Amino acid sequence: MRIAVGGFLHESGTFVDTPTTWEDFARTGAWPGACEGEAMLATLAGLNLGLPAFVEEARGHEIVPVAWAMAQPAGPVTAAAFARMCDTLVAGYRAARADIVFVELHGAMVAEGHDDAEGELLRRIRAAVGPDVPVVGTLDLHANMSTRMVEATNLLSAYRTYPHVDWGDTGRRVAHWLDRVRTWGPRPARAFRRIPFLVPVTAGCTLISPTRELYATLEAIEAETGVHLSFTPGFPPADIADCGPAVFGYGAEETTVAAAVDRLAAAVVAAEPAYAAQRVVPVAEAVATAIALSRNARRPIVLADTQDNPGAAAPSNTTGIIAELLRQDARDAIVGILHDPASARAAHAAGLGARLDTAIGGGLAGPGQAPQPGPWTVTALSDGSFEGTAPMLRSKTVEMGPTAIVRQGGVEVLLASIRQQPIHRETFSHLGVDPRARRIVALKSSVHFRAGFQEIAEEVITCAAPGTNLADPADFDFRKLPAHIRRRPMAP
Ligand SMILES: [Zn+2]
Repeated sequence: MRIAVGGFLHESGTFVDTPTTWEDFARTGAWPGACEGEAMLATLAGLNLGLPAFVEEARGHEIVPVAWAMAQPAGPVTAAAFARMCDTLVAGYRAARADIVFVELHGAMVAEGHDDAEGELLRRIRAAVGPDVPVVGTLDLHANMSTRMVEATNLLSAYRTYPHVDWGDTGRRVAHWLDRVRTWGPRPARAFRRIPFLVPVTAGCTLISPTRELYATLEAIEAETGVHLSFTPGFPPADIADCGPAVFGYGAEETTVAAAVDRLAAAVVAAEPAYAAQRVVPVAEAVATAIALSRNARRPIVLADTQDNPGAAAPSNTTGIIAELLRQDARDAIVGILHDPASARAAHAAGLGARLDTAIGGGLAGPGQAPQPGPWTVTALSDGSFEGTAPMLRSKTVEMGPTAIVRQGGVEVLLASIRQQPIHRETFSHLGVDPRARRIVALKSSVHFRAGFQEIAEEVITCAAPGTNLADPADFDFRKLPAHIRRRPMAP
């Protein structure tokens, strides 16, 4: 068989002012920049991503590489960037004259003019290749699914882990299901159910209840029925009509598919009280608890500064947690990653051991943006390039650009020039700072940090310092979300 492969991934937050431009796709820090054709296969080979894993698993088939691009989560994709990548993909898939089309997507992209950006892309791909060519692909667990996306495709499979360690497994799973997809014919049975409440991002973690058990249920129903199932808890900071959790499936026969999807959807709905019971701790209380616990802990207390998680499109430059650690006189605490290219540059210019009198962080509009005043002492410097070992994007060199650690009192702050989440312990250790040797490690991340830091943590406390990635989805000012979707679990 001839299989055309490509990808276009973005998680867009509509409450964020920074648009995502073509430049953001062309050059990223945490994964390769936009690529096309044979060079794309060479660039992505071996990475823990959907496309290369699918290609590896589909060995023996003829692969036609089209194009792939992904950018850090931020505001909606500009009309120009969306048009450019859609045109490249659609033209490539059309020219490939393939037997199967594979596309790696996120599922929560919003573009200027297209709230359901993947729905629009898939509609165009379907129109280009015709009704009889199976269109299959992978999705992030944070997809905000639409009926359009399901109806335009023969199989979409979402990740089943958060932290996402299964990008590659999801690509391999799609390859394994290809034979069944072909037996289902050009119009497989499909079902899509929306869940009537939003799930906070931090509650979607698959290492904890109830999400952990829901994925076990998914796999049990799938094994029993032969219906391919996905549960996407959704990406709340997006004011679009399709925002929120969904369950969907593909299979051979309508009633079986509908029944399997209904069973899984019922399990998710039954977990609503368990979702409601999860708590994000206000920052002052979280820091006080961390300081108290750290006195007798053998390992660091990890604070997750979820409201400034760049993985959910936040700027990663807020200062609330730094200010609180200083105010409570925390000892042996380190905070990262603060996205502040100017301060990182100033630290490099000043040199190791030098004093910086300038404030760090903040400076934009919005909550948590008061810069944190100096003086700071420069304690470590690097070019921000290291090999990360956490099981996400394995074997990838991470680029943070010019990077520095500065200290004030008992609090160190890691300043980087390229915005990204701390996923790997090497984020700190490549600068000579072993995070295991700190009492408190505060990370600007909601859940992905657990891939590298859970195993060294005495305890993880998810906390809410001022920021844009509101931990409680009910705090967002939704205009387009349908009225029947509860803004938080168990909300009236
Ligand atoms: Zn995700």
